[in-house]
Amino acid sequence: MVRTRVAPSPTGDPHVGTAYMALFSYCYAKQHGGQFLLRIEDTDTARSTAKSEQAIIDSLHWLGLDWDEGPDCGGSKGPYRQSERLPVYQEYAEQLLENDHAFHCFCTAERLQQMRAEQKQNGQTARYDGLCAGLSAQQVTERKAAGAESVIRMKVPSEGVCIVEDALRGSIEIEYAQIDMQVLVKADGFPTYHLAVVVDDHLMEISHIIRGEEWINSAPKHQLLYGYFGWQMPELIHMPLLRNPDKSKLSKRKNPTSISFYKDMGYLPEALLNYLGMLGWSMPGGEERFSLDDMIDQFDISRISLGAPVFDVTKLKWLNGRWLREVLDEDGFAARLSEWVYNRDKLMQIIPLVKERVDVFSDLGKMISFFVEGMPDLGPDDFDYKGAVTEQQVKVLQFSLWLMEGDIDWHSSALQQGLVALAEAMDMKIRDFLKPLFIAVSGKPVSPPLFDSLVVLGPEISRGRLRHALAVLGGVSKKKLKKLDSEFKTLS
Ligand code: GLU
Repeated sequence: MVRTRVAPSPTGDPHVGTAYMALFSYCYAKQHGGQFLLRIEDTDTARSTAKSEQAIIDSLHWLGLDWDEGPDCGGSKGPYRQSERLPVYQEYAEQLLENDHAFHCFCTAERLQQMRAEQKQNGQTARYDGLCAGLSAQQVTERKAAGAESVIRMKVPSEGVCIVEDALRGSIEIEYAQIDMQVLVKADGFPTYHLAVVVDDHLMEISHIIRGEEWINSAPKHQLLYGYFGWQMPELIHMPLLRNPDKSKLSKRKNPTSISFYKDMGYLPEALLNYLGMLGWSMPGGEERFSLDDMIDQFDISRISLGAPVFDVTKLKWLNGRWLREVLDEDGFAARLSEWVYNRDKLMQIIPLVKERVDVFSDLGKMISFFVEGMPDLGPDDFDYKGAVTEQQVKVLQFSLWLMEGDIDWHSSALQQGLVALAEAMDMKIRDFLKPLFIAVSGKPVSPPLFDSLVVLGPEISRGRLRHALAVLGGVSKKKLKKLDSEFKTLS
């Protein structure tokens, strides 16, 4: 039985890269009459949120990539949320310790830092030096009894070459000397990704792992763990990573990366899936427009391309246009349009903000366009008002963007409170602070009230408008961003 999974970490907006991995995993499973699972990898407790998990679930459902087993629908191999599986990882960590494949490590952060600095100075690979690997059981017990903190690390052979097979890339050879004695269980008792992923993929009977190429370097560690447990390793398929047009790893600073952004901008899920499919794969007949069913029918991993796929919004938009024009009839078009934003729920959010300013319905045209137009038509001149200082405007927009990217409740009062507090921390008059924000969000001299508008626009479009405004103001260089980041941190 072919079983594949997508295993996102719920640490932010639902990323198009997650949809990309899910799409390929889904097609592979469905083509083989197999099953596709969703597993939530939330062992990073500081960064994981329930909100992000829900957003991932909603956007994958929106795309139509439905799973056979997962945290929301259950299944026989659950739970499917790693934070609910801690006893399972503990049991397997114990097994590794008993069989001498892992050891307790008491090294302090200072010692590790010093060790790495020395290794760097000597031109060596940064890697744990094995100091604690030789501790006797009695020494471990004594140190633990004395209250010393410890982690569990895996053992790695000191010499030889590890050969990992990847279905797309063939044999990948890495010397064991290059492989770190990875921490498997942290001091707080939580497993790291490496232990959890191996244990879960095995217990969930995953046959094929399709994931991003950034995990290739971890594969030897995983292969060792499979060997230590005496388990068969699933087949590995490492997909090329999605890129910005400048070939760097796809990042929200250069390209919108959140699936919900594309949903809110009015893209069709079919077109987004089609585009993601096209980025890594091609139809045998070369057709550019294809459906999920077409992809499943024709799927063949040998047609996956290993080149660096550039996520190009212009191309996605073109493809979406083809779907709108060539696939939807007028009825379908109308149905999708009202599903998107011209619906009663949305109107009920908008009406309270515009009702007081309307004498006849036709007054509504311009006001409604503000809520549906995606990115407003802005130029640098729009930011040129009396007393405007570009540097200050950039700071206001960037800081507000960071605030809105954080864990903020998307309600009018929370947004108001957060932004007003930010203005105070920046020692700015609220009017001066809000002006560039107002222009960025509305693009117009008059618009409905700012905070309520942000709520109706939603986080994706609101943040998108801020990013768009920053680009209109000339963009923020990496260096500048770093500087702003430290300043922002001193404020919050
Ligand atoms: N949690 C990992 C991620 O979000 C999963 C990697 C994998 O598929 O093994 O990238």
